[in-house]
Amino acid sequence: MEPGADFEPIPVPKRGDWLAEHPETGQRFDDFVKSRPNRPDKYRSKIYLQPLSEFPSLAVPLAETLKEYAAAYFAMEIQILPVLKLNDENITTRINTFTGKRQILTGDVLAILRKSLPKDAFCVMAITMEDLYPQPSWNFVFGQASLRERVGVYSFARYDPAFYGQARGKNYEKLLVWRSCKVLVHEIAHMFGLTHCIYFACPLNGSNHLEESDSRPMHLCPVCLRKLQHSTRFNVVSRYGGLFSFYKKTGFEDEAQWVKGRLERVVGTDAARKILEPNRQR
Ligand SMILES: [Zn+2]
Ligand SMILES: [Zn+2]
Repeated sequence: MEPGADFEPIPVPKRGDWLAEHPETGQRFDDFVKSRPNRPDKYRSKIYLQPLSEFPSLAVPLAETLKEYAAAYFAMEIQILPVLKLNDENITTRINTFTGKRQILTGDVLAILRKSLPKDAFCVMAITMEDLYPQPSWNFVFGQASLRERVGVYSFARYDPAFYGQARGKNYEKLLVWRSCKVLVHEIAHMFGLTHCIYFACPLNGSNHLEESDSRPMHLCPVCLRKLQHSTRFNVVSRYGGLFSFYKKTGFEDEAQWVKGRLERVVGTDAARKILEPNRQR
C-alpha cells in the first residue's frame, strides 16, 4: 500500500523553523531498534501523569482529557497522580525578567520524579501550567523528557493566550486542549526512545515556535507508528478505532475524518464502518 495517500512529506524548513536551526539526521526504524529503547512490559506497564499545579477549569478537566488521549494513543493504561506540591525546599524557581512570571527549573522536577517513580511505571510525565526553564542562561523551555530515564516534564503555560496578556478567544478552550494533546504525545513518545521525525509531517517533528507546532498533524507517520507499535505491540486497527472515538467526543472533527479515511484504505469501507460505529443498528 502506498503510504503517500494519507501522509504528507515534512515541509521544507523556513528560517526560524526547527530543522533550519537544528539539523537532524533522523532515526530510521532500524536505528530505533538498535538503540535498544525502553519498552513497556508486564512489570512496567503504566504511563503516569503527574500534575504539578492546578489546571484552568475547563468544561472537561484537562488532565482527564489528556489521560483519555494518551490511553488511546499508546493503547496503555494511564493513571493521574495527585498534584505534587512543589516548594522552595525541593525546587529551584526564578522570576522571568521578560514575563514577570515564576518559572520552575526542569532538572529539579526530573530529579524528584526519578526518586518517586512508581514500581509499575513505564514512565512518568509531569504536566504543569507554570512556565519552565532548563538552565539559567535560557529564557524558557516548553518541556524536557529523558529518552532513557522514563521521566519528563511539560508546561502548557505558553499555550494559553492569557500567559502573553492576550484575551482568551472563543476557541480558547478547544485550542488549549488540542495543543496540549499534541505536545503530550510528542513528549511521551520521546520516553519510548523515538527521536524527532524528519520524514513526514508528524507529531514527532521538532518545533521551534507555536506556529510550527500548530502545523503538525496529530497522527503518527508510518515510520513513527511502526516504532511505537514495535514497543507497545498495539493492534494498529483497534488503536485507530479508539482514537476515532476520542476525536469525535472531543470535537476534533478533522482528525476524526483522517482516521476514518485511513482505516477505510487499510481494511476497506465495510470493515472500517464496523470498527468506527460498532453500536449502530443495521
Ligand atoms: Zn521533541
Ligand atoms: Zn514521524
